[in-house]
Amino acid sequence: MNYDIAVIGAGITGAGIAYELSKYNLSVALIDKYNAPSQGATKANSGILHAGYDDREDQLRGKLVVRGNKLYDRWHEEIGFRMKREGSLVVAFNEEQVKTIKEEKARGDKRGIPGLVIWGQDELRKNEPNLSKDAVAALFAPTAGVVCPMEVSNFLFRNAVMNGVTPFLDQEVTDFEKTGSEITTIVTTKEKISAKLIVNAAGVFGDVISRKAGIDTYHITPRKGEYILLEPNKLYNVNRVIFPTPTKTSKGVLVSKTITGDILLGPTAVNMADTERDNIFTTPEGLQEIIEKTKILVPTLRTDLTVKTFAGVRAQPDTNDFIIEDYSDPSNFINAIGIRSPGLTSAPAVAEYVLAIIEKKTGTLVKKEQYNTTKRVQFHSLELAKDDPAWGKTLTPQLDSPPLPLLDAAWNFGVQDQLYNYTCFTDLGLGMDLSSTFQNALIQWVKEKGVNTNDILYRHSGSWQIKDSPK
Ligand SMILES: Cc1cc2nc3c(=O)[nH]c(=O)nc-3n(C[C@H](O)[C@H](O)[C@H](O)COP(=O)(O)OP(=O)(O)OC[C@H]3O[C@@H](n4cnc5c(N)ncnc54)[C@H](O)[C@@H]3O)c2cc1C
Repeated sequence: MNYDIAVIGAGITGAGIAYELSKYNLSVALIDKYNAPSQGATKANSGILHAGYDDREDQLRGKLVVRGNKLYDRWHEEIGFRMKREGSLVVAFNEEQVKTIKEEKARGDKRGIPGLVIWGQDELRKNEPNLSKDAVAALFAPTAGVVCPMEVSNFLFRNAVMNGVTPFLDQEVTDFEKTGSEITTIVTTKEKISAKLIVNAAGVFGDVISRKAGIDTYHITPRKGEYILLEPNKLYNVNRVIFPTPTKTSKGVLVSKTITGDILLGPTAVNMADTERDNIFTTPEGLQEIIEKTKILVPTLRTDLTVKTFAGVRAQPDTNDFIIEDYSDPSNFINAIGIRSPGLTSAPAVAEYVLAIIEKKTGTLVKKEQYNTTKRVQFHSLELAKDDPAWGKTLTPQLDSPPLPLLDAAWNFGVQDQLYNYTCFTDLGLGMDLSSTFQNALIQWVKEKGVNTNDILYRHSGSWQIKDSPK
Protein backbone atom coordinates (compact mmCIF):
# COMPACT_ATOMS: atom_id res chain seq x y z
CA MET A 1 0.00 0.00 0.00
CA ASN A 2 1.18 3.50 -0.76
CA TYR A 3 0.00 5.60 2.19
CA ASP A 4 -0.95 9.22 1.67
CA ILE A 5 1.01 10.18 4.77
CA ALA A 6 3.41 8.39 7.11
CA VAL A 7 4.20 9.89 10.51
CA ILE A 8 7.41 8.75 12.19
CA GLY A 9 7.17 8.83 15.99
CA ALA A 10 4.12 8.13 18.17
CA GLY A 11 4.80 10.60 20.96
CA ILE A 12 2.43 13.48 21.65
CA THR A 13 3.65 15.26 18.49
CA GLY A 14 3.20 12.33 16.10
CA ALA A 15 0.08 10.98 17.79
CA GLY A 16 -1.45 14.47 17.75
CA ILE A 17 -0.71 14.87 14.04
CA ALA A 18 -2.05 11.38 13.27
CA TYR A 19 -5.17 12.07 15.33
CA GLU A 20 -5.92 15.27 13.42
CA LEU A 21 -5.14 13.57 10.08
CA SER A 22 -7.53 10.74 10.91
CA LYS A 23 -10.40 13.22 10.61
CA TYR A 24 -9.68 13.49 6.87
CA ASN A 25 -10.05 11.20 3.86
CA LEU A 26 -6.45 10.06 3.92
CA SER A 27 -4.58 6.81 4.45
CA VAL A 28 -2.13 7.36 7.29
CA ALA A 29 0.66 5.21 8.75
CA LEU A 30 2.06 5.90 12.23
CA ILE A 31 5.43 4.30 12.89
CA ASP A 32 7.27 3.91 16.19
CA LYS A 33 10.28 1.91 17.26
CA TYR A 34 8.70 0.89 20.56
CA ASN A 35 5.91 -1.63 20.89
CA ALA A 36 3.66 1.01 22.46
CA PRO A 37 3.07 4.70 21.83
CA SER A 38 4.34 7.55 24.05
CA GLN A 39 7.55 5.91 25.26
CA GLY A 40 9.85 8.91 24.59
CA ALA A 41 9.81 12.36 26.21
CA THR A 42 6.02 12.20 26.24
CA LYS A 43 6.17 9.60 28.96
CA ALA A 44 8.38 11.50 31.35
CA ASN A 45 7.78 15.20 31.76
CA SER A 46 6.09 17.58 34.19
CA GLY A 47 2.65 17.20 32.60
CA ILE A 48 2.06 20.94 32.73
CA LEU A 49 -0.06 22.95 30.33
CA HIS A 50 1.94 26.15 30.40
CA ALA A 51 0.09 29.45 30.20
CA GLY A 52 2.69 30.68 27.70
CA TYR A 53 3.57 34.11 29.09
CA ASP A 54 7.30 33.38 29.24
CA ASP A 55 8.09 31.98 25.79
CA ARG A 56 9.33 34.47 23.21
CA GLU A 57 6.63 35.77 20.91
CA ASP A 58 8.99 36.03 17.95
CA GLN A 59 9.67 32.27 18.08
CA LEU A 60 7.42 29.55 16.73
CA ARG A 61 7.21 27.80 20.09
CA GLY A 62 6.18 31.06 21.76
CA LYS A 63 3.27 31.26 19.33
CA LEU A 64 2.32 27.60 19.42
CA VAL A 65 2.36 27.27 23.21
CA VAL A 66 -0.30 29.96 23.60
CA ARG A 67 -2.44 28.49 20.84
CA GLY A 68 -1.84 24.94 22.14
CA ASN A 69 -2.94 25.86 25.66
CA LYS A 70 -6.25 27.08 24.23
CA LEU A 71 -6.71 24.11 21.88
CA TYR A 72 -6.41 21.67 24.78
CA ASP A 73 -10.01 22.51 25.64
CA ARG A 74 -11.02 21.10 22.25
CA TRP A 75 -8.94 17.92 22.56
CA HIS A 76 -10.26 17.49 26.10
CA GLU A 77 -13.82 17.86 24.84
CA GLU A 78 -13.23 15.39 22.01
CA ILE A 79 -11.41 12.57 23.77
CA GLY A 80 -12.04 13.21 27.43
CA PHE A 81 -8.66 12.82 29.13
CA ARG A 82 -8.34 14.29 32.58
CA MET A 83 -7.28 17.92 32.68
CA LYS A 84 -7.24 20.41 35.54
CA ARG A 85 -6.61 24.10 35.15
CA GLU A 86 -5.75 25.12 38.68
CA GLY A 87 -3.14 27.62 37.57
CA SER A 88 0.57 28.13 38.18
CA LEU A 89 2.56 30.40 40.47
CA VAL A 90 6.00 31.86 39.86
CA VAL A 91 7.27 32.64 43.33
CA ALA A 92 9.52 35.59 44.23
CA PHE A 93 11.65 35.71 47.37
CA ASN A 94 13.21 39.18 47.05
CA GLU A 95 12.82 42.55 45.36
CA GLU A 96 14.84 41.59 42.32
CA GLN A 97 12.66 38.51 41.74
CA VAL A 98 9.51 40.60 42.26
CA LYS A 99 10.79 42.82 39.46
CA THR A 100 11.27 39.74 37.23
CA ILE A 101 7.74 38.39 37.82
CA LYS A 102 6.27 41.84 37.16
CA GLU A 103 8.16 41.90 33.86
CA GLU A 104 6.78 38.44 33.04
CA LYS A 105 3.27 39.63 33.83
CA ALA A 106 3.69 42.69 31.60
CA ARG A 107 4.95 40.47 28.75
CA GLY A 108 2.03 38.07 29.25
CA ASP A 109 -0.55 40.88 29.44
CA LYS A 110 0.79 42.29 26.20
CA ARG A 111 0.35 38.90 24.55
CA GLY A 112 -3.20 38.54 25.83
CA ILE A 113 -2.55 35.67 28.29
CA PRO A 114 -5.74 35.77 30.36
CA GLY A 115 -6.02 36.50 34.06
CA LEU A 116 -2.39 37.09 35.07
CA VAL A 117 -2.22 38.62 38.51
CA ILE A 118 0.46 39.22 41.15
CA TRP A 119 -0.37 37.65 44.50
CA GLY A 120 0.94 39.18 47.70
CA GLN A 121 1.77 37.37 50.91
CA ASP A 122 -1.81 37.17 52.19
CA GLU A 123 -3.07 35.41 49.07
CA LEU A 124 -0.07 33.10 49.09
CA ARG A 125 -0.64 32.05 52.73
CA LYS A 126 -4.34 31.52 52.09
CA ASN A 127 -4.00 29.55 48.84
CA GLU A 128 -0.70 27.76 49.37
CA PRO A 129 -0.21 27.34 53.12
CA ASN A 130 2.78 25.02 52.72
CA LEU A 131 4.74 27.47 50.60
CA SER A 132 7.85 28.92 52.30
CA LYS A 133 7.04 31.83 54.59
CA ASP A 134 9.96 33.66 52.93
CA ALA A 135 8.01 33.97 49.67
CA VAL A 136 6.97 37.59 49.21
CA ALA A 137 4.91 37.52 46.01
CA ALA A 138 3.99 35.33 43.05
CA LEU A 139 2.71 35.59 39.50
CA PHE A 140 -0.54 33.60 39.24
CA ALA A 141 -1.50 32.28 35.78
CA PRO A 142 -4.99 30.72 35.91
CA THR A 143 -4.87 29.11 32.45
CA ALA A 144 -1.96 26.86 33.39
CA GLY A 145 -2.97 23.32 34.23
CA VAL A 146 -1.96 19.69 34.43
CA VAL A 147 -2.70 16.56 32.42
CA CYS A 148 -1.28 13.09 32.42
CA PRO A 149 0.85 13.43 29.28
CA MET A 150 0.82 9.77 28.43
CA GLU A 151 -2.90 9.50 28.90
CA VAL A 152 -3.45 12.35 26.42
CA SER A 153 -1.01 10.89 23.93
CA ASN A 154 -2.31 7.32 24.22
CA PHE A 155 -5.88 8.47 23.73
CA LEU A 156 -4.88 10.48 20.68
CA PHE A 157 -3.15 7.36 19.38
CA ARG A 158 -6.10 5.11 20.08
CA ASN A 159 -8.61 7.44 18.52
CA ALA A 160 -6.41 7.85 15.47
CA VAL A 161 -6.18 4.05 15.08
CA MET A 162 -9.93 3.66 15.59
CA ASN A 163 -10.46 6.14 12.80
CA GLY A 164 -8.32 4.28 10.33
CA VAL A 165 -4.68 5.20 11.02
CA THR A 166 -2.48 2.11 10.63
CA PRO A 167 0.01 1.67 13.48
CA PHE A 168 3.42 0.19 12.72
CA LEU A 169 4.80 -0.39 16.20
CA ASP A 170 8.01 -2.08 17.25
CA GLN A 171 9.83 -1.08 14.10
CA GLU A 172 12.57 1.48 13.89
CA VAL A 173 12.98 3.65 10.82
CA THR A 174 16.52 3.04 9.63
CA ASP A 175 16.66 4.58 6.17
CA PHE A 176 14.83 6.10 3.21
CA GLU A 177 14.84 5.23 -0.48
CA LYS A 178 14.67 8.13 -2.88
CA THR A 179 13.92 8.73 -6.55
CA GLY A 180 14.94 12.21 -7.71
CA SER A 181 13.89 14.68 -5.05
CA GLU A 182 11.20 12.40 -3.63
CA ILE A 183 11.38 9.83 -0.87
CA THR A 184 9.54 6.75 -2.13
CA THR A 185 10.07 4.31 0.67
CA ILE A 186 10.63 4.27 4.42
CA VAL A 187 12.88 1.41 5.45
CA THR A 188 12.27 0.01 8.93
CA THR A 189 13.77 -2.85 10.89
CA LYS A 190 10.81 -5.00 9.82
CA GLU A 191 9.57 -3.87 6.41
CA LYS A 192 9.40 -1.17 3.77
CA ILE A 193 6.55 1.35 3.92
CA SER A 194 5.63 3.56 0.98
CA ALA A 195 4.11 6.99 1.49
CA LYS A 196 3.48 10.07 -0.60
CA LEU A 197 4.31 12.40 2.28
CA ILE A 198 6.43 11.80 5.37
CA VAL A 199 6.29 13.66 8.69
CA ASN A 200 9.27 13.28 11.01
CA ALA A 201 8.18 13.52 14.66
CA ALA A 202 10.94 11.36 16.12
CA GLY A 203 11.61 13.50 19.19
CA VAL A 204 15.18 13.45 20.46
CA PHE A 205 16.11 11.35 17.39
CA GLY A 206 14.54 13.90 15.04
CA ASP A 207 17.84 15.17 13.69
CA VAL A 208 19.04 11.60 13.04
CA ILE A 209 15.95 10.87 10.92
CA SER A 210 16.21 14.26 9.23
CA ARG A 211 19.81 13.53 8.29
CA LYS A 212 18.82 10.18 6.79
CA ALA A 213 16.27 12.05 4.65
CA GLY A 214 19.02 14.38 3.43
CA ILE A 215 18.38 17.42 5.65
CA ASP A 216 21.54 17.85 7.68
CA THR A 217 20.87 21.35 8.97
CA TYR A 218 20.07 20.76 12.62
CA HIS A 219 21.47 19.21 15.75
CA ILE A 220 19.45 18.09 18.73
CA THR A 221 21.08 17.86 22.12
CA PRO A 222 19.56 15.38 24.57
CA ARG A 223 18.86 17.32 27.80
CA LYS A 224 17.91 15.10 30.70
CA GLY A 225 15.44 16.05 33.43
CA GLU A 226 15.08 13.98 36.60
CA TYR A 227 12.07 13.85 38.91
CA ILE A 228 10.94 12.69 42.32
CA LEU A 229 7.28 11.76 42.76
CA LEU A 230 5.89 11.92 46.31
CA GLU A 231 2.74 10.60 47.89
CA PRO A 232 0.33 13.38 48.74
CA ASN A 233 0.67 14.50 52.36
CA LYS A 234 -0.91 17.43 54.14
CA LEU A 235 2.49 18.39 55.49
CA TYR A 236 3.67 19.50 52.08
CA ASN A 237 0.78 19.34 49.58
CA VAL A 238 0.49 22.21 47.13
CA ASN A 239 -2.60 23.11 45.14
CA ARG A 240 -1.11 24.17 41.83
CA VAL A 241 2.13 24.28 39.84
CA ILE A 242 4.80 26.20 41.78
CA PHE A 243 7.80 27.54 39.87
CA PRO A 244 10.71 29.48 41.32
CA THR A 245 11.49 32.78 39.59
CA PRO A 246 13.23 31.77 36.35
CA THR A 247 16.81 32.53 35.49
CA LYS A 248 17.93 33.44 31.96
CA THR A 249 18.55 29.77 31.15
CA SER A 250 15.89 27.81 33.02
CA LYS A 251 12.32 27.77 34.29
CA GLY A 252 13.81 26.13 37.37
CA VAL A 253 12.94 23.12 39.48
CA LEU A 254 9.26 23.07 40.41
CA VAL A 255 6.82 21.58 42.89
CA SER A 256 3.52 20.55 41.36
CA LYS A 257 0.32 18.71 42.12
CA THR A 258 -0.18 16.08 39.44
CA ILE A 259 -3.51 15.17 37.91
CA THR A 260 -3.84 12.34 40.47
CA GLY A 261 -3.00 14.61 43.41
CA ASP A 262 0.56 13.39 43.93
CA ILE A 263 3.38 15.84 44.38
CA LEU A 264 5.98 16.08 41.63
CA LEU A 265 9.43 17.60 42.18
CA GLY A 266 11.82 18.42 39.33
CA PRO A 267 13.10 18.50 36.68
CA THR A 268 16.84 18.98 36.51
CA ALA A 269 18.39 20.04 33.19
CA VAL A 270 21.63 18.33 32.14
CA ASN A 271 22.95 18.22 28.57
CA MET A 272 24.00 14.72 27.56
CA ALA A 273 26.25 13.30 24.86
CA ASP A 274 24.60 12.38 21.54
CA THR A 275 25.04 8.73 22.42
CA GLU A 276 22.94 9.21 25.58
CA ARG A 277 19.62 10.03 23.95
CA ASP A 278 17.99 7.04 25.61
CA ASN A 279 19.56 7.60 29.02
CA ILE A 280 16.68 7.81 31.50
CA PHE A 281 18.63 6.82 34.59
CA THR A 282 18.14 8.92 37.67
CA THR A 283 21.26 9.87 39.61
CA PRO A 284 22.03 10.63 43.27
CA GLU A 285 23.34 14.08 42.23
CA GLY A 286 20.22 14.90 40.23
CA LEU A 287 17.87 13.82 43.00
CA GLN A 288 19.87 15.72 45.62
CA GLU A 289 19.69 18.87 43.47
CA ILE A 290 15.91 18.49 43.23
CA ILE A 291 15.53 18.13 46.98
CA GLU A 292 17.70 21.15 47.73
CA LYS A 293 15.95 23.40 45.22
CA THR A 294 12.36 22.38 45.96
CA LYS A 295 12.83 22.69 49.71
CA ILE A 296 13.40 26.40 49.16
CA LEU A 297 9.83 26.53 47.80
CA VAL A 298 8.22 24.07 50.24
CA PRO A 299 10.49 23.48 53.25
CA THR A 300 8.32 20.69 54.70
CA LEU A 301 8.84 18.31 51.75
CA ARG A 302 9.60 14.75 52.90
CA THR A 303 11.34 12.43 50.51
CA ASP A 304 10.76 9.39 52.70
CA LEU A 305 7.31 9.46 51.08
CA THR A 306 8.85 9.03 47.64
CA VAL A 307 6.86 6.79 45.36
CA LYS A 308 9.38 6.73 42.56
CA THR A 309 11.95 8.68 40.67
CA PHE A 310 12.18 8.92 36.90
CA ALA A 311 13.80 10.92 34.12
CA GLY A 312 12.93 12.18 30.65
CA VAL A 313 15.09 13.52 27.85
CA ARG A 314 14.27 16.83 26.18
CA ALA A 315 15.00 17.31 22.48
CA GLN A 316 16.94 20.58 22.69
CA PRO A 317 17.44 21.94 19.14
CA ASP A 318 20.43 24.13 18.27
CA THR A 319 17.97 26.72 16.90
CA ASN A 320 16.38 26.85 20.38
CA ASP A 321 13.04 26.80 18.57
CA PHE A 322 10.63 24.19 17.22
CA ILE A 323 11.64 23.12 13.70
CA ILE A 324 8.46 22.58 11.69
CA GLU A 325 9.04 22.98 7.95
CA ASP A 326 9.01 21.34 4.54
CA TYR A 327 11.66 21.32 1.83
CA SER A 328 12.15 21.33 -1.92
CA ASP A 329 14.48 18.32 -1.72
CA PRO A 330 13.23 15.95 -0.46
CA SER A 331 9.99 17.47 -1.63
CA ASN A 332 7.71 15.14 0.36
CA PHE A 333 9.36 15.39 3.77
CA ILE A 334 8.23 17.54 6.70
CA ASN A 335 10.19 17.96 9.92
CA ALA A 336 8.29 18.42 13.19
CA ILE A 337 11.35 18.19 15.43
CA GLY A 338 13.14 20.03 18.20
CA ILE A 339 9.83 19.91 20.05
CA ARG A 340 11.36 20.71 23.41
CA SER A 341 9.36 22.08 26.32
CA PRO A 342 6.59 23.27 26.11
CA GLY A 343 5.93 20.65 23.43
CA LEU A 344 3.23 18.90 25.42
CA THR A 345 1.25 22.13 25.72
CA SER A 346 1.92 23.06 22.12
CA ALA A 347 0.97 19.66 20.65
CA PRO A 348 -2.52 20.56 19.34
CA ALA A 349 -1.11 23.72 17.76
CA VAL A 350 1.86 21.79 16.32
CA ALA A 351 -0.63 19.36 14.73
CA GLU A 352 -2.64 22.27 13.34
CA TYR A 353 0.54 23.86 11.95
CA VAL A 354 1.69 20.61 10.31
CA LEU A 355 -1.76 20.05 8.78
CA ALA A 356 -1.58 23.54 7.27
CA ILE A 357 1.75 22.60 5.63
CA ILE A 358 0.22 19.35 4.36
CA GLU A 359 -2.77 21.22 3.00
CA LYS A 360 -0.50 23.67 1.22
CA LYS A 361 1.48 20.80 -0.31
CA THR A 362 -1.45 18.60 -1.31
CA GLY A 363 -4.09 21.11 -2.32
CA THR A 364 -7.14 20.53 -0.16
CA LEU A 365 -7.79 18.18 2.71
CA VAL A 366 -11.28 16.68 2.70
CA LYS A 367 -12.91 15.90 6.04
CA LYS A 368 -14.47 12.47 6.55
CA GLU A 369 -18.22 12.36 6.72
CA GLN A 370 -18.09 10.05 9.66
CA TYR A 371 -15.62 10.35 12.44
CA ASN A 372 -16.02 8.87 15.93
CA THR A 373 -14.07 9.57 19.07
CA THR A 374 -13.90 7.43 22.16
CA LYS A 375 -13.46 9.16 25.45
CA ARG A 376 -11.47 7.90 28.36
CA VAL A 377 -14.56 7.19 30.44
CA GLN A 378 -15.93 4.95 27.72
CA PHE A 379 -12.64 3.14 27.47
CA HIS A 380 -12.68 2.46 31.15
CA SER A 381 -16.00 0.70 30.82
CA LEU A 382 -13.82 -2.14 29.49
CA GLU A 383 -16.38 -3.24 26.96
CA LEU A 384 -14.34 -1.70 24.22
CA ALA A 385 -11.12 -3.23 25.42
CA LYS A 386 -12.67 -6.68 25.40
CA ASP A 387 -14.38 -6.38 22.07
CA ASP A 388 -11.88 -4.60 19.97
CA PRO A 389 -8.68 -6.55 19.38
CA ALA A 390 -7.29 -3.58 17.45
CA TRP A 391 -6.79 -1.97 20.81
CA GLY A 392 -5.27 -4.95 22.49
CA LYS A 393 -1.69 -4.24 21.64
CA THR A 394 -2.12 -0.59 22.42
CA LEU A 395 -3.46 -1.16 25.89
CA THR A 396 -0.61 0.81 27.29
CA PRO A 397 -0.52 2.31 30.74
CA GLN A 398 -3.46 4.24 31.90
CA LEU A 399 -1.43 6.40 34.21
CA ASP A 400 -4.39 6.71 36.46
CA SER A 401 -5.35 3.84 38.63
CA PRO A 402 -6.10 1.25 36.00
CA PRO A 403 -8.87 -0.78 37.51
CA LEU A 404 -7.58 -4.28 38.08
CA PRO A 405 -10.06 -5.69 35.53
CA LEU A 406 -8.40 -3.49 32.94
CA LEU A 407 -5.06 -4.95 33.88
CA ASP A 408 -6.67 -8.37 33.51
CA ALA A 409 -7.84 -7.38 30.03
CA ALA A 410 -4.35 -6.21 29.13
CA TRP A 411 -2.89 -9.42 30.55
CA ASN A 412 -5.31 -11.52 28.54
CA PHE A 413 -4.30 -9.69 25.37
CA GLY A 414 -0.86 -11.11 25.92
CA VAL A 415 1.07 -8.11 27.10
CA GLN A 416 2.57 -9.84 30.12
CA ASP A 417 6.07 -8.98 29.06
CA GLN A 418 5.18 -5.30 29.14
CA LEU A 419 3.73 -5.36 32.59
CA TYR A 420 6.11 -2.69 33.78
CA ASN A 421 4.15 -0.31 31.59
CA TYR A 422 1.04 -0.91 33.61
CA THR A 423 2.26 -0.48 37.11
CA CYS A 424 3.14 2.51 39.17
CA PHE A 425 6.35 0.78 40.22
CA THR A 426 8.18 1.61 37.05
CA ASP A 427 10.65 4.42 37.08
CA LEU A 428 9.85 5.29 33.52
CA GLY A 429 7.41 8.08 33.74
CA LEU A 430 4.96 10.24 35.52
CA GLY A 431 2.58 7.79 36.99
CA MET A 432 -0.74 6.64 38.07
CA ASP A 433 -2.86 6.65 41.15
CA LEU A 434 -0.34 6.10 43.84
CA SER A 435 -2.54 5.53 46.82
CA SER A 436 -1.18 2.83 49.06
CA THR A 437 -4.51 0.95 48.91
CA PHE A 438 -4.20 0.67 45.17
CA GLN A 439 -0.54 -0.26 45.37
CA ASN A 440 -1.25 -3.06 47.83
CA ALA A 441 -4.03 -4.41 45.62
CA LEU A 442 -1.70 -4.24 42.66
CA ILE A 443 1.08 -6.09 44.48
CA GLN A 444 -1.42 -8.82 45.32
CA TRP A 445 -2.61 -8.95 41.69
CA VAL A 446 0.95 -9.20 40.41
CA LYS A 447 1.70 -12.04 42.84
CA GLU A 448 -1.43 -13.90 41.77
CA LYS A 449 -0.24 -13.74 38.18
CA GLY A 450 2.97 -15.43 39.26
CA VAL A 451 5.15 -12.49 38.27
CA ASN A 452 8.35 -11.91 40.18
CA THR A 453 7.99 -8.33 41.38
CA ASN A 454 11.73 -7.82 40.93
CA ASP A 455 11.22 -8.34 37.21
CA ILE A 456 8.88 -5.41 36.95
CA LEU A 457 9.92 -3.09 39.72
CA TYR A 458 12.44 -1.13 37.74
CA ARG A 459 13.15 -1.39 34.09
CA HIS A 460 16.58 0.04 34.65
CA SER A 461 18.35 -1.60 37.52
CA GLY A 462 20.68 1.38 37.91
CA SER A 463 17.95 3.80 38.80
CA TRP A 464 17.95 5.21 42.25
CA GLN A 465 15.08 5.41 44.64
CA ILE A 466 15.40 7.69 47.60
CA LYS A 467 14.46 5.83 50.72
CA ASP A 468 15.33 8.34 53.43
CA SER A 469 15.10 12.04 53.88
CA PRO A 470 18.50 13.63 53.37
CA LYS A 471 20.18 14.75 56.55
C1 LIG B 1 12.04 16.69 31.67
C2 LIG B 1 11.00 17.23 30.75
C3 LIG B 1 10.00 18.08 31.21
C4 LIG B 1 9.04 18.60 30.35
N1 LIG B 1 7.98 19.28 30.86
C5 LIG B 1 7.01 19.71 30.02
C6 LIG B 1 5.84 20.34 30.52
O1 LIG B 1 5.58 20.38 31.73
N2 LIG B 1 4.96 20.88 29.65
C7 LIG B 1 5.17 20.84 28.30
O2 LIG B 1 4.37 21.41 27.57
N3 LIG B 1 6.22 20.17 27.79
C8 LIG B 1 7.13 19.60 28.62
N4 LIG B 1 8.19 18.91 28.12
C9 LIG B 1 8.32 18.75 26.68
C10 LIG B 1 7.47 17.60 26.15
O3 LIG B 1 7.58 16.46 26.98
C11 LIG B 1 7.96 17.28 24.75
O4 LIG B 1 8.01 18.47 24.01
C12 LIG B 1 7.07 16.29 24.04
O5 LIG B 1 6.80 15.16 24.84
C13 LIG B 1 7.75 15.88 22.75
O6 LIG B 1 6.95 14.94 22.11
P1 LIG B 1 7.46 14.27 20.77
O7 LIG B 1 6.35 13.41 20.32
O8 LIG B 1 7.98 15.30 19.86
O9 LIG B 1 8.71 13.39 21.20
P2 LIG B 1 8.72 11.95 21.92
O10 LIG B 1 7.68 11.83 22.94
O11 LIG B 1 10.12 11.71 22.34
O12 LIG B 1 8.31 10.96 20.75
C14 LIG B 1 9.18 10.64 19.70
C15 LIG B 1 8.85 9.24 19.24
O13 LIG B 1 9.65 8.92 18.11
C16 LIG B 1 10.01 7.55 18.20
N5 LIG B 1 11.20 7.33 17.40
C17 LIG B 1 12.43 7.86 17.56
N6 LIG B 1 13.27 7.41 16.61
C18 LIG B 1 12.56 6.57 15.84
C19 LIG B 1 12.88 5.76 14.70
N7 LIG B 1 14.11 5.74 14.15
N8 LIG B 1 11.91 4.98 14.16
C20 LIG B 1 10.66 4.97 14.68
N9 LIG B 1 10.31 5.71 15.77
C21 LIG B 1 11.24 6.49 16.33
C22 LIG B 1 10.24 7.33 19.68
O14 LIG B 1 10.13 5.97 20.04
C23 LIG B 1 9.15 8.21 20.32
O15 LIG B 1 7.98 7.46 20.60
C24 LIG B 1 9.14 18.33 28.97
C25 LIG B 1 10.12 17.48 28.50
C26 LIG B 1 11.01 16.88 29.38
C27 LIG B 1 11.97 15.85 28.88
